[in-house]
Order: sequence, then structure tokens, then C-alpha cells
Amino acid sequence: MSVTLSQSSRWFARPLALVIAVLLTVVAGSGFLGLRYWQERQAANLAHERSRQVLETLDRLKTIIADVEAQRRGYLLTLDPSYLKAYGVSDESVRRDAQALQALVAGDPLQNHRAGHLALTVAAKLREIDDIVKTAQTSSGPAALAMIRSLDEIRSQIDQMVDHERFLLVDQERGAEALEHRKAWLIATAVIIVAVLAVVAFALARLEAIRRRKAIAENVALHSDLLTRDKKIRRLVDANIVGIIIWEVEGRILEANDEFLRMVGYDREDLIAGRLHRTTLTPPEWRDRDEHTVAELKRIGTAQPFEKEYLRKDGSRVPVLIGGTMFGESTSQGVGFVLDLTERKRAVEALRQSEERFRTLVQFSFDVYWETDAQHRFTHQEFAASLVDAPALGSEIGKRRWEVPYLEPDEEAWRKHRETLDAKLPFRDFELARPAPDGSKRYVSVSGLPVFDETGRFTGYRGVGRHITERRQAEEALRAMQAELAHVNRVTTMGEMSASIAHEVNQPIAATVTNAQAALRWLRAQPPDLDEVRASLNRIVEDGKRAGNVISGIRTLVNKLPPRKDRFDLNEAVLEMVALTRSEVLNHGILLQTELAPGLPGVDGDRTQLQQVILNLILNAVEAMGSIAEGTRELWINTEREAAGGVLVTVRDSGPGLDAADTESVFTAFYTTKPEGMGMGLAICRSMVEAHGGRMWASANEPRGAVFQFTLPLERDASIPARHVRPNPAA
Ligand code: ADP
Repeated sequence: MSVTLSQSSRWFARPLALVIAVLLTVVAGSGFLGLRYWQERQAANLAHERSRQVLETLDRLKTIIADVEAQRRGYLLTLDPSYLKAYGVSDESVRRDAQALQALVAGDPLQNHRAGHLALTVAAKLREIDDIVKTAQTSSGPAALAMIRSLDEIRSQIDQMVDHERFLLVDQERGAEALEHRKAWLIATAVIIVAVLAVVAFALARLEAIRRRKAIAENVALHSDLLTRDKKIRRLVDANIVGIIIWEVEGRILEANDEFLRMVGYDREDLIAGRLHRTTLTPPEWRDRDEHTVAELKRIGTAQPFEKEYLRKDGSRVPVLIGGTMFGESTSQGVGFVLDLTERKRAVEALRQSEERFRTLVQFSFDVYWETDAQHRFTHQEFAASLVDAPALGSEIGKRRWEVPYLEPDEEAWRKHRETLDAKLPFRDFELARPAPDGSKRYVSVSGLPVFDETGRFTGYRGVGRHITERRQAEEALRAMQAELAHVNRVTTMGEMSASIAHEVNQPIAATVTNAQAALRWLRAQPPDLDEVRASLNRIVEDGKRAGNVISGIRTLVNKLPPRKDRFDLNEAVLEMVALTRSEVLNHGILLQTELAPGLPGVDGDRTQLQQVILNLILNAVEAMGSIAEGTRELWINTEREAAGGVLVTVRDSGPGLDAADTESVFTAFYTTKPEGMGMGLAICRSMVEAHGGRMWASANEPRGAVFQFTLPLERDASIPARHVRPNPAA
């Protein structure tokens, strides 16, 4: 910085000297011009004064000459001596003035010559006139005239001189005028010069002030810079973040901060006593490396940082990073920094272990570990070794998640997933189907967490994937099994029913046959026993009636097992049946919608029986819609409160529907339109509903399909809501 300072002052000195030189020249020049002006002015004044005096003298001379002439002429004309009274005086003053004149014009050769000539002429003429006066005894006109003529000559000489002097005066005035002009110019020039100088001086003063201010600021900055640098170094040393040592290149450690002493386990006393030496601090296997460093220091003055170990006072070792530099070429001392690497080594080891743990975790918990960047492109993928059909390593790096081929893409699910990604939110169990090498489907469940760097900037996602193919398959199987179970359940119920019916019907029929055979036997007897025949026929009629009762009175059959009375949540019971039939419904491409009245009171009855009713209605609707080729397949199930105070369950479909004539016959036992049908389902359903005190009926749906409805009464105290109402998942 001092270099810049002297440079700037040198830059400044040159124009300053120049300005001073110009200033001096201008002052000297204007002084000289002023002096010249003053001298000229003085000379002009003198000349003017002299000319004025000359003219005055000449004027006086002329007057005196006129007096002399008047006296002489008076005397000559009158010879009166009183005229000559002042004679001597006038003559004398003429002479004196002539002499004075000569002295006055001494500087002007022409006038001087003229003055000389005038003086001579005056003397000569005065003498001549004296002579004339002396010789004039009588008044003499001619003499006077002659005298006057001679005085005329003097006068003409005086006039010549006056003219000359007047010319001179005019000249002098012109000169004075020119001088005045010059003076004005001189003053104007001086004013301009002064103004310019003032401006220059002001500018220079400002420049100087700025320079000074800058210099001061620079000095202050320099000073504080030095101070802060000094402080920084001191803080670095005192902060004990790194070990700092001052050493002799040969190995003795002269100075060390606390951190270094802590590192090597020595104390300040050891340091002062000179017990700290490179060779004692360095384990034998590091000595060669140290030799190399010493050579490096001697050669280039610095040692590149390198890792080594120090021996502590207690003999243990400490890993360090060390670097250093010599103070200068002329000294054998230098400064070194020493960084304790124990923590770092431990951290590296911890990191390695954590990595290993993580790897183990991934290996056993997940099938895939992945990372994406802020643009959701895969940057890293790791597949569990157990994953037999993992994609080729690196084949998906750089691709965005949605650019990787997936099977059965669910647009809606993807849209939601993209929204989550855009919002940088964590996600869990996002399920995907991927093609396996053999062409089969592999289901993967992906979870991820957004990653932000220390500044809070989003850098991508990190997450895991789990293959859930088996789980999915198991779920599918379970669902299929449940559907199967539903079927079996129904078939079993039907089977049981038909077995009972067969039993009930068979018995009266068998009795009828027996009685008929008995009647025939009584008729064949000789003589025929008509009373017995009548009795047998009566029994046949009874048996016939009994069979009729069995067939028409299914209700009696069902009533054999009185329904259990439990209070249950009807909506929940409906939803269970919906869940049970879900795969059946989906497989038939049916859209199922439920609308279940919230807060329905609990229903008292046999939950299983009523679920059988609902299941039967659902399966009937599914079977009915399975046969239609056109139109959407829709199934609505709703529950509501009935006007009469009970609850109403409605199962409505968009299948082929029922003829108006059939709405009642479908409930008749053995009425079926299906090749494998039993025609018992609806009959039993109605019996069950009626056993609960409800009603069941069918009607046509608009624009197509069938509606099956049933009511269940509520007990007087059934206004208490059921245990809980689950939210409606299918809605
Ligand atoms: P099955 O189902 O064994 O035939 P059901 O008593 O359950 O016995 O049904 C009797 C008949 O009623 C069925 O064969 C069918 O013709 C008719 N049916 C039942 N439900 C529907 C429905 N949802 N749509 C149209 N017809 C139906």
C-alpha cells in the first residue's frame, strides 16, 4: 500500500511544480509589466509636467516680450523715461526665463537647439533694442518699428517652440491614453490570472484534501487490516482448534499452543525444558517420512500437509495431519500446524460401520434402495442380492421415476403421486407393477423421503422399495377364497335347506305311498275292509296336506331355528358383505356404489342371517348383470330410515330386470331361470326377513334392472345408535 502512496504523490508532484513555475512566471511577468507601466506612467507624467512648464515659460516670455515691447515702444514714441522704469526688471526676467527654458528642454535636442537660439536672439535683440533706445534722441517711429520687427522674430521663435511643445503635448496625451488602455488590459489580465490561479489553487487544494483523506483512510484500513490479521492469527493460536508449533528445522520444538500439548500429552514445562523434539515424538516407522519433509522444507521452504502419527508422552499414538513452512531463507525456524485426526478417523470408522449397518438393513428389509435428484431422476439404485429379477444395474440411472416402464399405470394414482413429489412431501407405500424378465408382473411398494441440504434447498428423494408380489398374490388368493367361501356358504345353506325340504317332503310322500299300498291291500282282501281303506285314504289326504304345507311354508322351516337377537350395526354388516364380494364385483366389471345413512340405530336380529340375505341379493344382481352384453353394470346399495320407523335396505342393479308379473313369483320356492339354479334363495331370504318382523319385495328399476328391498322393524328402545359407524370406503 505504501507503494501506491508514493506513486500517487509522485504523480501529484509533477503538476504541482509546474503550477508553481507557471505561477512564479506569471507573477514575475505581471510585476515586470506593472513596473514598466509605472515607469512609463512616471515618464509620461514628467514629460507632461515639463511640457506644461515649457509652455508656461514660453507664455511668460511672450508676455514679458510684449511688456518690453510696450515699454520701449512707449518710450520711443514719447521719450518719456517713466516707460523705462521697469526696464531692467523685464530684461532680467526675459533672460532668466530664456535660461530656465533652456534648462527645461535640455532633454529635447530640437527644442534645446531652439531655446539656445532663442536665448541668443533675445540677448542680441535686447542689446539691439538698448542700442536703439540709447541712440533715439527723438521719438522715432522707424526705430520703434525696427525694434518691433526684431521682437517679432523672438515672438515667431517662441511660437515655433510653443507649436512644437503643443505637438509634444498632444503626443503625450495620446501616449497616456494608450497607457491607460494598457493599464485596463493589464488589470483585466491580472484579474483573469488571479481567478484562474484561484480556481487552480482551489482544485489543487481539493485534490490534496481528497488524497490526504484517501491516504488516511488507506492508512487506517491498513492499520486495522494488520490489527485484524494479527488478531486472527492470535485467535487461531489461542482458539486451540489446531495445534500450532514453532520449530527448528533440525527438530526441536520451540513454541507450541495448548492444543498441540494436549494432543501429544506433554505440558508447558516439558516444552520450556526442551523435551519436545521431533525424534522423540515420532514413531520409528515415520522417521523416513520426516526426513523427506525436512528435505522438502530446506529445498522449497514449505511442506505439503501429510498424515502421520505422533507418540504421546504416555506412549500411545495419535493420528495427525501436519504441514508447515519456514519463516524465511535466512532462518532455520518455521511454523507448523498439526490437526488431531482421532475424531475424524473415528468418524470415518463410524461412518463405515453405519454404512455397513445400513447395507445390512437394506439387504434384509428392502429389495431396493434408491436416490433421485431434484428433477426426480434416479441417481443411485441398489438392489438386494436376494432380488433375482432386479433390472440391470445402472439401466435406470438418469431416468425419471415415471420414465421407467410400469405395468397397469393408474393415471389417478400417478397424478396424486406427482403432486406429492412436487410438494416435496414424504410418501409411503406407493404401489407399482413392473414387468419381470419372464414377462410376469412384479409388484413393488415404494416409500421415499425428500432430502434437503444444509441451506434448506431440496436436492431430491431417498427411499426404499419392497417387492410385494407375493403379498399381492396372497391377497388375491385370499379374496378369491373369500368369494369362493361366499359361494360355498350359500350353496351349503341351500344344500341344508334342500335336504330339510327333501326330508320334510319325502316323509309325507313316503307315508302317502305306504297308506296307498295299505289301502290297496285292504281293497284286495276278501271281503275288502272298506273302513280300513277309508282310514288309509284319510291318512293320504293328511299326508298330502302335510307335503303342501312343507312346500308353501318354508317360513315354518326357517322358524324351526328361531333367529338370534343381537343388536348390530346394519351399515357395518352391509360393508362386510361389500368387501366380501369386491373381487366378484370387480371381475364382472361392475361399479358398486353404496349410500349408507349415517347414524342408523342398531338393528336387533341375527346378524349372520341378515348378512346372508344381503349377500344373496348382491350375488343375484352380479349374476343377472353378468349376462348383459351392453350398458354399464352398476350396483347401488343403500340403507335409510323408513317412514314407518324401521330401516329400509335397497339393492338395485342395472341388469336385465324382472317382468312385472315376476316380481312376486321370484320369491316362490323352486322358481328359477338359471340352469343350475335352485330357486330357493329369494324364498329363504323373504322367510328370514319376515322372521325378523320385516317385509321383502321386488320391483323394476328405471331405466332397467331390478330393485330388491326389505325392511326391518326397530325395537322401541332401538333409537340408541349402533356401536360405531365406519366411514364408507366404497362411496
Ligand atoms: P336362483 O338364484 O337359484 O335362481 P333365487 O330365488 O335367488 O334362485 O332367484 C330366483 C329367480 O329370480 C332367479 O332365477 C332369477 O330369474 C330371478 N332373479 C333374482 N334376482 C334377480 C335380479 N337381480 N335380476 C333379475 N332377475 C333376478
